[in-house]
Amino acid sequence: MTLTVVDHPLARHLLTELRDRTTAPDRFRTLAKQLTAILVLEATRDLTTDAKPVETPLERTGGSELPGIVAVPILRAGLGMVEAVTALFPGVGFGHIGLERDEQTLHPSSYYEKLPPLGGRHVLLLDPMLATGGSAIRAANSIKERAPAAVRMVCIVAAPEGVKALEEAHPDVPVVAAALDRELNERGYILPGIGDFGDRLFGT
Ligand code: URA
Repeated sequence: MTLTVVDHPLARHLLTELRDRTTAPDRFRTLAKQLTAILVLEATRDLTTDAKPVETPLERTGGSELPGIVAVPILRAGLGMVEAVTALFPGVGFGHIGLERDEQTLHPSSYYEKLPPLGGRHVLLLDPMLATGGSAIRAANSIKERAPAAVRMVCIVAAPEGVKALEEAHPDVPVVAAALDRELNERGYILPGIGDFGDRLFGT
């Protein structure tokens, strides 16, 4: 598995404001969207396109067409990354996976799953916090049952524990993140982290 930490000055700037405990939900949503756009561009850098000739007003020339892309946000925090994907790829399809973390065991349990046909399509798995890796692994298991062309994970902050677990379970799933943080605390939160991403996004 490859982990790419996007080291762009704008990404660092946006992440700093996202981390700030005083950032209010409306601003948090905007920052999450802007930062996700940068990450998604990086995650899709290696997508292969099909040749598509085009007629300009002057002559015929070579062009490119994107392959089928499906974004799968893990509910609910992944919803904060959706708008950035639709802005970049208006033709994207969507699936949703709802996973809830048991606060004692930290194991995810599934409460919702709706996926479109994924055969031959390129999946962007969206979850802003790659913490223990449990949710990402569960989601990638479900997605891979449907034979996609490839799965790429986009997260905002990754913990070393989650990166290692995902790498062991799905070595073929590359991860793009804005930061690789230090560690998880005993409650499974990433340090220094952002806090509970869903709570900060929705003001709960
Ligand atoms: N989920 C979050 O929202 N934050 C963390 O730090 C870890 C998991």
